[in-house]
Amino acid sequence: MRDDYYPFVNLPLPYGYGAMEPYIDEKTMRVHHDGHLEAYISKLNAALKERPGLQMLPLAALVRGGALLGEEVARNAGGVYNHRFYFELLQNPADREPHGALRKAIERDFGGFAQFREEFKKAALSVFGSGYAWLAAERGRLAILTTGNQDTPLQRGMKPVLNVDVWEHAYYLKHQYRRADYIEDWFKIINWPRAESNFLG
Ligand code: MN
Repeated sequence: MRDDYYPFVNLPLPYGYGAMEPYIDEKTMRVHHDGHLEAYISKLNAALKERPGLQMLPLAALVRGGALLGEEVARNAGGVYNHRFYFELLQNPADREPHGALRKAIERDFGGFAQFREEFKKAALSVFGSGYAWLAAERGRLAILTTGNQDTPLQRGMKPVLNVDVWEHAYYLKHQYRRADYIEDWFKIINWPRAESNFLG
C-alpha cells in the first residue's frame, strides 16, 4: 500500500465511484470512501498528533500494535487499513474465480472453490453487528475468519488475502437488510489477481 505514514491522506479510489455498478451502487461507494474512510483517516491523524512517538510507524505496525497503542489509535488505524484493503480488492468487470497459486491453495485448504465460497459466505453472514470476513494465510495455509468492528487478522499474526466489509454502511442503501444478496454481488467484483499477490507477497 502506498502512503503508509502519518499524516495519512485519503487517496482517490483507483476507479470511478460508479465502477462497481450494478453490484455496489455509486452512492454507497461515495459515502463509504469520502465519508466513512475519510473519518477514520482524520481521527487517526488527530490521535497521532498527540502521540509523536508513534508518528514514524507505518500503518501496518499501528494496526499490529492494537490496543497496546491505545483505543483511539487502534480503532482508527484498523478502520483505515481495513477499508483500503477492501477498496483495493474490488474490480469490475472481474473474473468470477481465482486462478494460479491462490486457486491451488484454496482447493487444497477448502476442498474446492465452491466449498470455499460457501464457507466464506457463511462466515460473512455470521458476523453479528459490524465487522469483516477475511481470507488470510498463516504459514502458507489459508483460513477464513471474521473480525468485529475494525479488528484485523494482522493482530493474530496472519496475512490478509481478501476481505469483505459487512458493516451495514457497506450495503444498506442498495441491499438494505439483505446481507446475503450483497455478499453474492460482492463475489462478482473480486480482484482475484490482487488477492493472489497478497497471498504470495
Ligand atoms: Mn466500511
